[in-house]
Amino acid sequence: MSTDDAYDPKFGEYGGQYVPEALMPAIEELTDAYQRYVLENEDGFMDEFRERLADFGGRPTPLQYADQLSTRYDTDVYLKREDLLHGGAHKLNNALGQVLLAKYMGKERIIAETGAGQHGTATAMAAAHLDMPCEIYMGETDIARQRPNVFRMRINGSEVNPVTVGRGTLKEAISETMRDWATTVENTHYVIGSVVGPHPFPKMVRDFQAVISEEAREQAIEKTGGLPDSVLACAGGGSNTMGTFAHFVDDSDVDLYAVEAGGSSLRVDEEEGVAPNSATLSTGDEGVLHGARTKLLQDSDGQIMESHSVSAGLDYAGVGPELAHLVDEDRVIPVNVDDDAALEAFHRLSQDEGIIPALETAHAFGYLEEHHDEVGDTVVVNVSGRGDKDLETVIEETSKRDLDIAPDMSIFERVGGGGL
Ligand SMILES: *Cc1c(COP(=O)(O)O)cnc(C)c1O
Repeated sequence: MSTDDAYDPKFGEYGGQYVPEALMPAIEELTDAYQRYVLENEDGFMDEFRERLADFGGRPTPLQYADQLSTRYDTDVYLKREDLLHGGAHKLNNALGQVLLAKYMGKERIIAETGAGQHGTATAMAAAHLDMPCEIYMGETDIARQRPNVFRMRINGSEVNPVTVGRGTLKEAISETMRDWATTVENTHYVIGSVVGPHPFPKMVRDFQAVISEEAREQAIEKTGGLPDSVLACAGGGSNTMGTFAHFVDDSDVDLYAVEAGGSSLRVDEEEGVAPNSATLSTGDEGVLHGARTKLLQDSDGQIMESHSVSAGLDYAGVGPELAHLVDEDRVIPVNVDDDAALEAFHRLSQDEGIIPALETAHAFGYLEEHHDEVGDTVVVNVSGRGDKDLETVIEETSKRDLDIAPDMSIFERVGGGGL
C-alpha cells in the first residue's frame, strides 16, 4: 500500500492543513493514529479492517468481463464491481475504515457530513455495525431532495442534523461538521467522505479505498495475464478514483483516466457565480477549501462557485489534492462527460450488461463510448456504485430529453399511476 510519510501533508503544492488553531490537536492526534494503525498495523488494525470488509462488506468484489461492451468497442472491457459492495457503492471502504479507526483511538462518537446522502448512509451503516453513536450533518435542501437516504440513516440509528446556513448543501454541511469537531475533539471522530479536507484525510481515505486497485490489479493479471492499457473511474471528490488508481500509479504503461462531470456545459457564468459543471480538474484554479490547497471552481475574486451535475455525488466544487497533483504531473488524464452522455451511458449499461449503474459511474462509461478507440486493447472501468438511488432522477431527466436509447415509459399512461 502506501509508502508515504504520514507526516508529510503535501502533494507537490497541493494539500496541507489549512484549519483553525482549535482543530490542530485533533489533526495531530489523527495523524499519529494513521501512522500507527493504518501504516504500521498496530494492534492488528488493518487485519481487523480487512476481515470486516470481507465479512460485513462482501469483499473482494469481482472483476467482471463485459461481453456486450467488449464486442461493441472491439476492446476487452472489465468491470470492477464496487456496486456489489454492501450499501451499493465504494463508500463503505472508507466509512468502515474510519469508524473502526475511531474505535481504536478510543473515541466514543462519530460525526460526518453528507451531500446526496451516500456517505451519510455508509457511515451510519458502519457506525451501527461497530456500535458507535453517530450524527450526520446534512443541508436542509439536500434533506428535502434525498428523503430515502435520510430514512436509511435514521433507520440505522444515526441522528441527522439539518444545516440551514447558505444554500443548505454539501459545502455548508462540511463547514458545520468541522465546527462541531473543533469543540468535541476529545471524544469525537469526524469521518470525512472523500480524499479531501486537511491532511491526513486525503492519504488515509485513499489508503482505505486502495483495496479497489489492489484487488483489480491482481484480478486483471489473473484473468488477462497482464496489466490493462487503461483504467477509468469517475471523479467527484476523488475517493473512488484514487482508490482505483493507487496500485496502478507506478505502472507507467497504464493510462489513468479521471472522468469528471461536464454538466450541461463547460462555460462558466461569472456574474451569477455558477459553473454548470463539476469539471474541477479540467477547468479549476488553485485555492484553499475545507482545509486543503487544491484545484477549485472559483470566480476571479476567489469565491467558490456553485457547481452542477446530474449526479449529486459528483457535484462538488473541489477535488482531492493528490488527484490535482497527479494531473499536474501528467500521470492522471482529466476528462469530462456531460449530463446527456452520462444519461445515455446509464441506459446502455443497464440494457447491454444488466447493470444499472449510479449516475456518477455512468460518466466513466460515457467516456468509454466517446473515446473507446483511444483506451487500448484492455480497459478496466470502476463501477463505483449501483443506480437504484438514481431511478427517480433518471426518469425525470430522461423525459426531458429525446434519447433514442431510453425505454418507453408510457406503460404508466395506460395503467395509471405514473413515475416511480
Ligand atoms: C460519492 C460517489 C462518487 C463520487 O465520490 P468520490 O469521492 O469521487 O468517489 C462516485 N460514485 C458513487 C457511486 C458515489 O456514491
